[in-house]
Amino acid sequence: MGYPKEIYNRAYDKLLKRKENARLKAAANKQQLYAKLPRLEQIERQLNLTGINLARLVLNGSENLEQAIEKMKNENLSLQKERDDILLSNGYSTNCLDINYFCAKCSDTGYIDNNICDCFKQLLKDEAYASLGSVSLLSSCSFDNFNLSYYPTKLGDSSDVNPRAVMQGIYDYCVRYARNFGNGSDSILMMGHTGLGKTHLSVSIAAGVIEKGNAVIYSSVQNLMDRLERERFGKDNAADDSKSYMQLVLESDLLILDDLGTEFATTFTNSCLYNIINTRLIDAKPTIINTNLDIEKMEKMYSQRIVSRLACQYRVLKVAGKDIRLVSGMKNKS
Ligand SMILES: [Zn+2]
Repeated sequence: MGYPKEIYNRAYDKLLKRKENARLKAAANKQQLYAKLPRLEQIERQLNLTGINLARLVLNGSENLEQAIEKMKNENLSLQKERDDILLSNGYSTNCLDINYFCAKCSDTGYIDNNICDCFKQLLKDEAYASLGSVSLLSSCSFDNFNLSYYPTKLGDSSDVNPRAVMQGIYDYCVRYARNFGNGSDSILMMGHTGLGKTHLSVSIAAGVIEKGNAVIYSSVQNLMDRLERERFGKDNAADDSKSYMQLVLESDLLILDDLGTEFATTFTNSCLYNIINTRLIDAKPTIINTNLDIEKMEKMYSQRIVSRLACQYRVLKVAGKDIRLVSGMKNKS
């Protein structure tokens, strides 16, 4: 698993801090304990001298080397036993002086036998999506605070659309989607005017999917394109052994692209978009795309091969209602 160098470095810094914290805590613990039970400190000093004493014996060419080593071993064992007895009789466990690592599996080194440990994988994932700006949104949007009462049951006399019923259906679908998420889940095109909850619902899905340990990238189309363009022209230099942002985008478990249609469309953005949509479909990796555009406007802005994939191979969800930011604003005032 490779990530851009900046992400790798940030994750590795966090790992080092964890290790340092664990060591500092253990050292502070030890000092406290030694102040209370000074004999423990003497025992540790004596045990630490073992290596030096052993070297001395060998260098001096002592005649009864084997006997001397045996004697030292026994002394060590009895010191260790004494230490354990002191700890136990004072109500401590015998391993209370050990360093308590955040991850016991790899002792906060991030690797087990040259393989990357799950704790480091998680740190890398966290950094990867944090770098794309999902964290602040994630903390404010959830399924729990999605308020269906902001949606009217009628749009007007001439329409028989019931926005609240439509949104209830979409909401239920999104909750199930997050719960059952996996490779091969639907890709979703969420369409409809600004302020109807598309971002809120897709971020709520992201939170649920991240919770299950998946790597999620959340970005507006514009931000992603800026990033990819910078990378393309070499302003973001990734190390040779790390993956590009494009690879990260293609390989993330879930990719959420907000505000399709508000970006500055160029040949470059068009071909990037096609590459992302097409590759992820082939790999059965789910993508969620939000847009204010209807199909007609999309056809004007994007190539036919993009629009046909979105219209035919994505599940299309059409949100309905009046701008809930205005409705909720009015409710707050009243
Ligand atoms: Zn670990």
